[in-house]
Amino acid sequence: MKISIEGVKSFIPAATINEQIAAGKNASASQIRDIIQKSLSKQRLDPAETAALLSVTDPELRQLILVGAHELKEKIYGNRIVLFAPLYVGNECINDCVYCGFRISNQECHRSTLSKQDLIAETKALVETGHKRLIMVYGEHPMYSAEYIADTVQTVYDTKYKKGEIRRVNINAAPLDIEGFRVVKSAGIGTYQIFQETYNEEVYKKLHPSGPKSSFLWRLDGLDRAMQAGIDDLGIGALMGLTDWKFEVMGLLYHTIHLEDRFGVGPHTISFPRIEPANGTEFAERPPFQVSDEDFKHLVATIRLSVPYTGMILTAREPIAIRNEVLNYGVSQIDAGSSIGVGDYSNKDEESKKKSQFVLGDTRSLDDVIFELAQHGYIPSFCTSCYRAGRTGEHFMEFAIPGFVKRFCTPNALLTFAEYLYDFSSARTLQAGLELIEREAALIEDAGMQASVRSKLAEMKAGSRDLYY
Ligand code: SAM
Ligand code: SF4
Repeated sequence: MKISIEGVKSFIPAATINEQIAAGKNASASQIRDIIQKSLSKQRLDPAETAALLSVTDPELRQLILVGAHELKEKIYGNRIVLFAPLYVGNECINDCVYCGFRISNQECHRSTLSKQDLIAETKALVETGHKRLIMVYGEHPMYSAEYIADTVQTVYDTKYKKGEIRRVNINAAPLDIEGFRVVKSAGIGTYQIFQETYNEEVYKKLHPSGPKSSFLWRLDGLDRAMQAGIDDLGIGALMGLTDWKFEVMGLLYHTIHLEDRFGVGPHTISFPRIEPANGTEFAERPPFQVSDEDFKHLVATIRLSVPYTGMILTAREPIAIRNEVLNYGVSQIDAGSSIGVGDYSNKDEESKKKSQFVLGDTRSLDDVIFELAQHGYIPSFCTSCYRAGRTGEHFMEFAIPGFVKRFCTPNALLTFAEYLYDFSSARTLQAGLELIEREAALIEDAGMQASVRSKLAEMKAGSRDLYY
């Protein structure tokens, strides 16, 4: 792969962003209310509007923003939460990202890459807990070429085990060249996710001192190349704690606007991980711009309002209490039952910590997370229907097509949840889940749709599987 940034220009106007953030502080309470209303009418916000929301410090106004984000989520997406698990394929890495346990200079990192047999064992271990959706994660190394990534994805799809299989694989890996993205697309991936880490170019250069990732522009242009290769299902993200979080949210918004302007389609998902401690990694113990819990909630709600159409991912990096609260502010996907060490699902050992990228905040099992979601009235969803039916960009459809959620998303969430319950759940989750399904099925307004869902649920109970609309 040849790294070339010829002709690539940054679309992050740093000086303008700083001005917008400074000007945002002057927004009045009524302006903030108007901005929230604009978002509730399903319009993406402009940078100046987002900057105004970000700059709010008054607790009452911040509360209005949280409430607005909650309302938007309920109104557009309802109460489904999509579940997935990360699958770490290999932690060899030629980059030196100062915050990451996998960086080349970390002597304490135990390096390993799954063999094909290991990968099958990991996939089986995940299938056995009920997972249907994965994100496969790779360090950056010549070993992990586009062909290698495509091969490993294929191995996962080919692994059928007992009562299940993985039905959607997303990717988090280094940016490729256009040809490489084409190869990976051909393996039938869902989302290709690349986090910019920080949108502040100066900071980026300091924190990524060597390796291919040291090029800010190569990475910034990564998702453009993916689009050019025909992958239109993309995930963006910023690693919170490297510089001012307000700047990072503005960067995410400018990235969104750039993709909209150039390709007519924005990101499928936005991620906003906070830095977690990592083995042998002093930087991650005390990130220079650590984001407080209050600011974190505020930034999640602001992202929800700023880009109403996008999916939002919250990972198990966060502790349980934060996860539970932030679900209210617009998050649509979470991972659960996660392990982030290479080979950890099938073989947890003494060395696990040394093979892990960082430390998780939420280590509950998938079943425990599902039980709690059901207790709080969320419908856990393993739906992969849009992707498999060729309806790419489901979040856009949920957002843009009236009635789409009622016709597809909620019924499919209920069906995939029922499948999970019958095949994988504990007795308490089964009971709580079936009660939730009954309540939710009764709420389906369209009588024909309700009857159809009930009949499919009955088929599911009788043993049919993988039913979807
Ligand atoms: N190597 C590829 C890359 O850097 O894009 C993909 C995999 S990397 C393991 C996935 C993401 O983990 C990175 O983009 C970064 O945002 C995140 N990450 C790295 N160190 C972290 C830490 N200490 N805490 C939380 N997230 C971290
Ligand atoms: Fe390697 Fe990615 Fe970690 Fe950077 S963040 S050291 S590229 S695995």
